[in-house]
Amino acid sequence: MNFAVAAPKQAYLDIEGSEEKYPIRRIYCIGKNYAAHVAEMGGDADRDPPVIFQKPADAVVRNGGEVAYPAFTENYHYEGEMLVALKDGGKNIATEDAASHIFGYAVALDMTRRDHQPGVMENGLPWEICKSFDQSAPMGPITKIEDTGTLTSGTISLSVNGKTKQEADMSLMIWKTDEIISKLSQQYELMPGDVIMTGTPAGIGAVVPGDTILVHVDGLKDLTVKVTDKKS
Ligand code: MN
Repeated sequence: MNFAVAAPKQAYLDIEGSEEKYPIRRIYCIGKNYAAHVAEMGGDADRDPPVIFQKPADAVVRNGGEVAYPAFTENYHYEGEMLVALKDGGKNIATEDAASHIFGYAVALDMTRRDHQPGVMENGLPWEICKSFDQSAPMGPITKIEDTGTLTSGTISLSVNGKTKQEADMSLMIWKTDEIISKLSQQYELMPGDVIMTGTPAGIGAVVPGDTILVHVDGLKDLTVKVTDKKS
């Protein structure tokens, strides 16, 4: 096929123990999925259910990469999250069948322009400016589900320059991974290459240029990224 302009590059992740790559189609994200994080954002987990949003596939930064401090923010936040990568798709997937659609898991960051979030939420505007900007989706390599089993518990933690900022057990998720896949598949036809960030625990905070962020999930390869100078 002859495209009239340069065709976009396929976003992808490495796979542990394999030469093959995992192609990314869509990045779904779940917000407000740990009660302690909902509380630190000023919400009430009983009243405010988890939310769904997306990031563009080309916002991925792979492990060991650099993220430039973005323009248009003075309060750039990390959110450490566990990521589920699907091996096949479907609509109206039952919770009981959800695990059979998982290819594997990875560690991810939902980078956020926090200073814009109250304004867009109060005014009913889209979240894109806060959540869906360039380089806003660092992700580590995928570990196949055959090597981990279904990941429903275990520690998720995040440190900045070696200092722990977030630490929780994934069993505290409000919507569990299988429920997330089921709920998403009611609203979207899921496809191979779809990945899902499953929400961040409490302890969110800001980073500045020069900081190194490390995210850990038990059983998965750590994700490390460095924040570099602000883009002009
Ligand atoms: Mn998040």
